[in-house]
Amino acid sequence: MKSAAATQSVIETLAHQHPDADTELHFRNAFELLAATILSAQATDAGVNKVTPALFAKYPDAGAMAAAPAEEVEQLVHSTGFFRQKAKSLIGMSRALVERHGGEVPRTMDALVKLPGVGRKTANVVLGHALGVPGLPVDRHVLRVSNRLGIADSDDPDRVEQQLTGALPPALWTRASDTLILHGRRICKPEPMCGQCAASDACAFFAEASGLPEPVRPRGRALRGTPAKAGAARRTAAAKPVKKAAPSRRRR
Ligand code: SF4
Repeated sequence: MKSAAATQSVIETLAHQHPDADTELHFRNAFELLAATILSAQATDAGVNKVTPALFAKYPDAGAMAAAPAEEVEQLVHSTGFFRQKAKSLIGMSRALVERHGGEVPRTMDALVKLPGVGRKTANVVLGHALGVPGLPVDRHVLRVSNRLGIADSDDPDRVEQQLTGALPPALWTRASDTLILHGRRICKPEPMCGQCAASDACAFFAEASGLPEPVRPRGRALRGTPAKAGAARRTAAAKPVKKAAPSRRRR
């Protein structure tokens, strides 16, 4: 696995390629982001953004959501999938906020993960984006991209979070996660577009697929997927900053 300095260098390279990396969920406060992140499980951010305006218009805070009839919440979040479980989590989470935290979203990982429907990934999203507390969410994109690059070496999200937070200063945690997620969505997809990747020079996966001397390939780790056009243009003109088409993340 790469050193802390090399990890930071890779993240900086990718941050340059994706200068607009940020959460794409729309929110106005920590409660809204917490609810939106719960809804984002097995759903796209764009899909969540379609349902949250009506949801938050009707239930704008924990107190209102805690008293909501389950059937009404289910109807509002239906299109995001798993709507019964998600409605149950939203109402349960809101009741716990009212009962334990005066209706406010707590600012610690320990308290957040005790809320119904909230795991470390969701807690880190809220800490990092809405509460100004360093947090590094590890989703499937972060898991895939960080292992390919050789800046992490595990299939366990908690372990990868430890590895990345151990290598990066807290001020970079949230941005690093946003950057890796965007890179995974745009370029380092399951079928990666290595010819468009700004970090290919430092990538263990690319080195292996191209038959090049490996930079720092994770030992014993099977590298999945097939780079598209591996060995072709490395660091091509396409490895320039990629502009996001989506609008601003926050609702006003
Ligand atoms: S070189 Fe390819 S496999 Fe490596 S991070 Fe870039 S896109 Fe992903």
